[in-house]
Amino acid sequence: MRLSELHTGDKAYIVKVNGSGAFRKRLLEMGFVRGQEVKSILNAPLKDPIKYNIMEYEVSLRRSEAVMIEISMVKYDLPKYEQPTSEKDTDDSVVTAQTSKLSQQKDSKIITVALVGNPNSGKTSIFNIASGSHEHVGNYSGVTVDSKEGKLKHKGYTIKLVDLPGTYSLSAYTPEELFVRKYILEKEPNIIINVVSASSLERNMYLTTELMELKAPMVIALNMFDELKGSGREFDYERLSEMIDTPIIPTIGKKGFGIPAMLDKIVEMYEKGNKNDSNNVHISYGRVLEKAIYRLDQQFANTDVSHLNMPLRYICIKLLENDKDIRQIVSTLTNHKDIFARVERERKYIENLLREDAESAFTNARYGFVAGGLRETLSEKTTSSETTRILDTIVTNKYIGFPLFFVFMWVMFEATFTLGSYPMEWIEWVVQLIGNFIRANMSDGPLKDLLVDGIVGGVGGVIVFLPNIVILYAFISFMEDSGYMARAAFIMDKVMHKIGLHGKSFIPLVMGFGCNVPAILATRTIESRSSRMITMLINPLMSCSARLPIYILFVSAFFPKHASMALFAIYLFGILLAVILSKLFRKTLFKQENTPFVMELPPYRMPTVKSTITHMWDKSRQYLQKMGGIILIASIVIWFLGYFPHNKATERTFDEQVEQTANLFMKGQITSQKQDSLVAGIEVMRASTHQENSYIGQIGHFIEPVMRPLGFDWKITVSIITGMAAKEIVVSTLGVLYPGDPQNQESLQTRIKNEKYSDGMPVFTPIVVVAFLLFVLIYFPCIATIVAIKQESGSWKWGLFTIVYTTSLAWFIAFIAYQIGMLF
Ligand code: GDP
Ligand code: MG
Repeated sequence: MRLSELHTGDKAYIVKVNGSGAFRKRLLEMGFVRGQEVKSILNAPLKDPIKYNIMEYEVSLRRSEAVMIEISMVKYDLPKYEQPTSEKDTDDSVVTAQTSKLSQQKDSKIITVALVGNPNSGKTSIFNIASGSHEHVGNYSGVTVDSKEGKLKHKGYTIKLVDLPGTYSLSAYTPEELFVRKYILEKEPNIIINVVSASSLERNMYLTTELMELKAPMVIALNMFDELKGSGREFDYERLSEMIDTPIIPTIGKKGFGIPAMLDKIVEMYEKGNKNDSNNVHISYGRVLEKAIYRLDQQFANTDVSHLNMPLRYICIKLLENDKDIRQIVSTLTNHKDIFARVERERKYIENLLREDAESAFTNARYGFVAGGLRETLSEKTTSSETTRILDTIVTNKYIGFPLFFVFMWVMFEATFTLGSYPMEWIEWVVQLIGNFIRANMSDGPLKDLLVDGIVGGVGGVIVFLPNIVILYAFISFMEDSGYMARAAFIMDKVMHKIGLHGKSFIPLVMGFGCNVPAILATRTIESRSSRMITMLINPLMSCSARLPIYILFVSAFFPKHASMALFAIYLFGILLAVILSKLFRKTLFKQENTPFVMELPPYRMPTVKSTITHMWDKSRQYLQKMGGIILIASIVIWFLGYFPHNKATERTFDEQVEQTANLFMKGQITSQKQDSLVAGIEVMRASTHQENSYIGQIGHFIEPVMRPLGFDWKITVSIITGMAAKEIVVSTLGVLYPGDPQNQESLQTRIKNEKYSDGMPVFTPIVVVAFLLFVLIYFPCIATIVAIKQESGSWKWGLFTIVYTTSLAWFIAFIAYQIGMLF
């Protein structure tokens, strides 16, 4: 019988996972191993995927993939080979360089500690509480989804904490797994904290077994200790700690309980150095596998592997598991041919004797080891929490699942816009105040102009959007932390599958609304390369928060009555384009493969105010930093390009004109009012002539012919060019280029609305605004995004491709919009 045939609510036992390759390996690692009990709990609204309960946690699989898993309604026999046990290692040679590293760096008083664990085990919570004041928290930009570094002092040591991305295992299967493994092997942290979620111990401890094999000095943080207590189960973790010879410290990551004890343990371990060779327990894989490992080990007899920095036993195991990365490393050894030949023989041997391939044999054995350890220390299982079950029946319900989701999205945008407009007004008022203050109190000259128009005008125009961004991120982080984001992926999978993507693509796409850069980094959670690439390439069409200031500026100026609606429409249009392009890319660039869908559905958790605020603060800080850096520089450069060259002759002509009006007034030919209005007219002419002749005017003029068919003047063209650095700059450029009436600080909105061509026609008509907003939505995302795409795809080709396709598409669509609009 196949897993896909299991009725909702029924239980069965895994017999075998069919299929091949990475997907199958992932299923094994997620706990679909022989003899495991599995229960079908829920179908997604569109009948695909299906939610299963295995090892006390929930995963979703597509029907087409559940077909590959054979089940039996009666409990299957336990593995035929002997039950794996842990045993003390007597062979000292197995203890490697890894542990001795501990003593080498001992004197430095800096302890590097890496947090390793499953996604959602609470690593980041522990990291945030431990590193406290956010001292020196820097993103590992471009390397991981959410790796951070933080420092803290404890007992006279500086502890450098590194929050690594979450992984289920250390096979070189997803980029995260490879990254974490490489980090441990190459950066050699002094101590590893393995964060283990007490609410799904069995699955979490799979990773622990792999870490144990690496022989790195390790402390286990038994996190979610509160949930363990709440479930009423008894866990004799001290006993388990003795069995695996690794300290286990109970913690509650979100409250901080147990963290001081954990830090004490780290210092203690560090001080001990390798005086007691930290961990000599190894997992015994049973007779057959051990024999294979032993024979492969012998094959290395005369080969020096110390430079590989891994225990030999680990290398052997990974070779038998057919780990590509380790094979690669081993292929640099001189006698690699013999070794690989031996590997093949041993893999055949395993298959023949155990009647299963080596990969599942090892995975089974590790789970066997974990199950064995837990059987003796952990009391009866309980089922998943009641609240999670109830919430899931509502949130993933056939009828209300989608409407609920869209309502949630709508509320998010409504709040961003409406709620955000109040603090926005206050900030705007303060910025104006500062501008007017400087204007009134400084003597005339380029410096004053630079301060008022370049810096206050440019940066001020951007800072007013901070509240909107904070609100948007509050929603996104709430969705992530609560577990709703995973449900959204669950219900969206069928739809995403239709456009050639994966339910998991949904998360990076939603994150793209915040910022495309982390969103593109987040695509690495998608295992299939083609889905990952498509998700990355269409991500810029998810309108990021940097574009929001531009929309808000124009929408509230030109469509104030339907502001939310208009904003929603822009986002929706971006999504629509993304869908079309995704299909197109799937049909042309990335033809192959159906994408596997194994996804964990973590239990719902009420996000703490603290973690939401931390997240909001992080994002706002990034936004402000961007402003302090790139945007400030860009504002100054743009101001400079717009301010110079100063043409003395033209200036003099205008001065003369002003003098003439004064003469006319003296002679009594005009009234004083008439003179004032004449002077005002001349000043406006002076300003606009000056701008047109400036460097930036020249650049804008040069490109203008290309943009003319879209209804854009040269100033709009210039703002589009400057927006390539970062979208926020579009607004600050407009702020500098449309200074309005110099005597009176008006808001940028008013200035833009009042802007006229020399023939009196308004520059911005609703049609031009629509074309402009569409252009901004689609064109060249920003330099940071392009760099992120380059990094994640591994080549500049895709970065360039993104630039070209987005910009030409933007031109094309804005062209159509403008031309059609002009017909009416
Ligand atoms: P990470 O993915 O490993 O970085 O996990 P996070 O730190 O983001 O935590 C995932 C979720 O678990 C968040 O909603 C946390 O608030 C929550 N959480 C973390 N530690 C604990 C804990 O000890 N107990 C409970 N009940 N929840 C926790
Ligand atoms: Mg995290």
